[in-house]
Amino acid sequence: MSNTIVNEMKIVKAESSKIQDVDFDNIDFGRVFTDHMFSCDFKDGKWQTPEITPYQPLTIDPSARVFHYGQAVFEGMKAFKDDKDAVWLFRPEDNFNRINISAKRLAMPEFPKEYFFNGLETLLKLDKEWVKKGDGNALYIRPFIIASEPAISASPAEEYKFMIICSPVKAYYKDKIKVVIAEKYSRSADGGVGFAKAAGNYAAQFYPTKLVQETGFHQVIWTDANTHEYLEEAGTMNIFFRINDKLVTAPTSDRILDGITRKSIIQIAKDNNIEVDIRPVTVKEIKEAAKDGSLKEIFGSGTAAVVSPISAFKHGEEVFDVVEPENTYHGMFKRQLMDIQYNIAEDKHGWRYKI
Ligand code: PMP
Repeated sequence: MSNTIVNEMKIVKAESSKIQDVDFDNIDFGRVFTDHMFSCDFKDGKWQTPEITPYQPLTIDPSARVFHYGQAVFEGMKAFKDDKDAVWLFRPEDNFNRINISAKRLAMPEFPKEYFFNGLETLLKLDKEWVKKGDGNALYIRPFIIASEPAISASPAEEYKFMIICSPVKAYYKDKIKVVIAEKYSRSADGGVGFAKAAGNYAAQFYPTKLVQETGFHQVIWTDANTHEYLEEAGTMNIFFRINDKLVTAPTSDRILDGITRKSIIQIAKDNNIEVDIRPVTVKEIKEAAKDGSLKEIFGSGTAAVVSPISAFKHGEEVFDVVEPENTYHGMFKRQLMDIQYNIAEDKHGWRYKI
């Protein structure tokens, strides 16, 4: 292994690449990882020298606080390769800002911007062969922070580990999804951690999601915890409704993740002269719109799937089908968004970031 220090970063390169063992045509989301990983420890009140090493398991004390109190936050972003082999990120500053918003809410130290971008760029340059060309192919990037301090008293840790790992992903052509509107369980509460990408938010969703999957549905659409009358977001996606020609989505709040795809779609809709209403959306109005035919589309938005059309929703014992028009908004938004991400279309809002 060669061992170099660049810009105060220690780099240990893998002796050989695992890439020839990977069948890129048959890849399961998030199971294959690139040759290298980035890590940086927080100790003695400051972030230490970051390093890039071959991808490998960690050695971590069983008493590390993350295992006991769930002090863990993460991000999800993607790198794309264009026709000329250039690698691009999409609005990475927003992911950087969001991981620190999440960290702050979980009493974790914020990660320095220079370390984040230097680490990300160096890692992606080393593993650029893992970013495949082609519509829908991307490298999924997972930055995360965990409380690594070996101590099991219930208080914030004094030691943390920040890491970035990367996983190649294929185009995501899934069947349309059927959802159940939450009436009993809640994902988040006022004053809680719903706006943070905290690991515990996801753990808490698995059980109610499993229950709906046992009845042939795929995901839960979360409602507000107090009344269950307002539609908020899906497990890993924000949610949009098209009523006639208008797009409607809930405002972000301390219960909802401020999705980067969501805000990009809102901008793209405006660029296409589509009216966007950002306001609380009631279950009642969406049921009525489904009944009178004014509900034209429902779709989720997120980094992994870009947009995911919803073909039916269940509320109580009632099931409503969403009958889409021929030219969908979600189809158009997905195309326009991906054309920006893959450096095909003009980037008029400055969203692309070249590696
Ligand atoms: N809501 C939740 C709960 C999520 O986990 C995600 C995925 N990050 C989203 C919405 C969509 O956010 P983004 O568009 O930034 O991926």
